[in-house]
Amino acid sequence: MKSARKITQVSRRFYRREQYHCADCQRRLRRAVTLTERTVIRLDEVIKLVHAGYRCPDAQCAGHQRTYRSVRADALALPWFTYGVDIVLLVGRLRLREHQTVDEIHQELLKRLEPLGVKIARREILYVFEAYCTLLRASSEAKDDVEWLAQVEKNGGIIVSVDGIQPEKGNETVYLVRDALTGRVLCAENVTSSETAVMKTLLAPVVALGVKVIGTMSDAQESELKALEELWPEVPHQVCQFHALRDASQSAFDADKAVKTAMRKKLQPKVRAVRKQIKKHLPTASADEATQLTVLDEYASGMLTALNTDGLQPFTYATVESAPALDEVEASLQQLEKRGRL
Ligand SMILES: [Zn+2]
Repeated sequence: MKSARKITQVSRRFYRREQYHCADCQRRLRRAVTLTERTVIRLDEVIKLVHAGYRCPDAQCAGHQRTYRSVRADALALPWFTYGVDIVLLVGRLRLREHQTVDEIHQELLKRLEPLGVKIARREILYVFEAYCTLLRASSEAKDDVEWLAQVEKNGGIIVSVDGIQPEKGNETVYLVRDALTGRVLCAENVTSSETAVMKTLLAPVVALGVKVIGTMSDAQESELKALEELWPEVPHQVCQFHALRDASQSAFDADKAVKTAMRKKLQPKVRAVRKQIKKHLPTASADEATQLTVLDEYASGMLTALNTDGLQPFTYATVESAPALDEVEASLQQLEKRGRL
């Protein structure tokens, strides 16, 4: 690795609702408001996000009041928090399971965030740990939250969304249960088994709230599906679109990966051989030759980077991503040839 310090890499993302149609009249939802515009720092990336809220376009519809949020946007970080849920869970684990001191946790997080070019202040660790504790108290607080209950009343009920997060290194899963319409965390639980019975126990506080459930959402994990189905058999369920799309794109993704691997196998050794030659010639080359060789080496390095581009399900395909970069290398080389500099 060259330098450990990098400039902050920010991913810009736009989040829309996961439901497309009004739960009451089935009309297509329309973008109505910007719910949040903020930066979220997670362990693997810094995201600048815009979170848009959607509503039923029919003012006469019983569901017109309801704003549909993005569960995925809400899953990134708790409301008002810059540091992501993954960091909240990590801090909770380091403190409670591994009994680390605040200073130790601070050092660990600084180390983890350094490649992203961001930092965290020591006092933030305390806030984040407080957030972790609040999270685990969520279920006892929801039922007393008068303001939130009034909003639920206005929305005509809640949409229960279950999100299982596996903190690294641990064998437990933290389940966050939210109301997809208000984004509120209804309960959070650290479990080591994801059997249907465990899922049902986890969801018991939501049942105990006694509010109307108008829909449920989860990923495609069977025990989650079964628990939701058994608890709310009459209620429509939606598999989180991200998971559904990811599963649907699997075969295309595998095919793309195969093409990419074949390309890399064929080209990488050749490009590497060229680089080796360049390296060998450089010490004895004249100044002009050295400049040319350095330029060639940059091309080779660019090609290797393109060949090592990874895809990300569901929509980012490695070969599609690397094609423009390879085309660029080709076009640039042709240009050079035309100008007679090679
Ligand atoms: Zn409607």
